[in-house]
Amino acid sequence: MSRTVRTFEATITNQQQVRDDLDQLGWAASKLWNVGRYYAQEQWDDTGEIPDDGELKAELKGHERYTDLHSQSSQRVLEELAEAFNGWFGKRRNGDDRARPPGYRKNGDSHPRSTVSFKAAGFKHDAQFTRVRLSKGRNLKEHRSDFILCEYQTRPDIDLTEWDIQQVRAVYKRDEWRLQFVCRTTIDPESPGDDVAGVDLGICNFAAVSFGGESVLYPGGALKEDEYYLTKKKAKCDDSSSCEATRLDRKRAGRRTHFLHALSKSIVNECVERGVGTLVVGDLGGIREDDENGEPQNWGDHGNLDLHGWAFDRFTTLLDYKAEAEGIDLELVSERDTSKSCSACGHTDDNQRVERGLYVCEKCDTVANADVNGAENIRQKVLPSLATDGGDRDNGWLAQPAVHLFDRSEGRFAPREQVVNREP
Ligand SMILES: [Zn+2]
Repeated sequence: MSRTVRTFEATITNQQQVRDDLDQLGWAASKLWNVGRYYAQEQWDDTGEIPDDGELKAELKGHERYTDLHSQSSQRVLEELAEAFNGWFGKRRNGDDRARPPGYRKNGDSHPRSTVSFKAAGFKHDAQFTRVRLSKGRNLKEHRSDFILCEYQTRPDIDLTEWDIQQVRAVYKRDEWRLQFVCRTTIDPESPGDDVAGVDLGICNFAAVSFGGESVLYPGGALKEDEYYLTKKKAKCDDSSSCEATRLDRKRAGRRTHFLHALSKSIVNECVERGVGTLVVGDLGGIREDDENGEPQNWGDHGNLDLHGWAFDRFTTLLDYKAEAEGIDLELVSERDTSKSCSACGHTDDNQRVERGLYVCEKCDTVANADVNGAENIRQKVLPSLATDGGDRDNGWLAQPAVHLFDRSEGRFAPREQVVNREP
């Protein structure tokens, strides 16, 4: 089974304390690159051959610049150099005469800050305090135990404890150092089964899930109430850049994140319980409406707070991570016609009646919750072929979804006893 590798980027929150040390390492990496580049040139001139990374490492490991960095970090610099030469050979072989060999890393008398990689022996991760200890080379240490302790912050939806960190990279970008965590999934999960579930994302019900024979609705009410309340409250602030306004923005972002996390987790749990190995999600190409600058549009006037593309994109990403960790594949399919077709008989009619959240088929008389009907159509898109036998099957479940509500105090979704067709 293939393992997933992902790279997560983090900001360094104690930048001031660590930047000088990281600068030294970044400059040392550039200098080592240049030393290797120079050695390669000499060999090239003498023998017509470029040394490979094994030879570069063996030849340069006693060099002063090599011992500025942790040995694994130095090895990585020389591997990158060898890879750059190989890339150039490859281009030349393919007839690209304009390709140039890798150059020196130098701007006049100064050096750029190269990326420094830390492999297993070169870093120590402290998940509890979200910090990572990076090793220096012997030359740059004042004491044996001298290291760089970076405190970091990732995006809130990323939990590094769910991942096995293979490598940490210090990267200099836009005048500051950042960290990249190269991670693998810690487990090779076995798929829960062969069943397929469909997910329809929408405004009233944030998600409707069809398992075929059973369905669950996840109303978006709790999220909308938060958005509405916190947006209103912020509008009352005198100054939109005030501390209070910032605090409200942060609170709103935190609530959203929490809601989306809890929702994706709940759906994945339901799938695991039912032996679902494939989760099909309707691609919301149609709903996304960005303004001319490509930014999500502002909330409408008069509290018309519809959720926009960002929430669905973010949600789909979260759902993908969580599904993958359980061995469930996620597929995106076009939403085309999924709201106009009857999931029981396949009849499509542009004038199909949708009233009060109910879909009523004029051909087979099936009555369905409109969002569940959409989710079931999405689910059927990846099924090989479905014998649609009209009203002969028991389609009652299409009209009677279970409803799971977000419980703020528990921070998770829980089933609601009575069944309703749609949130008002
Ligand atoms: Zn029908």
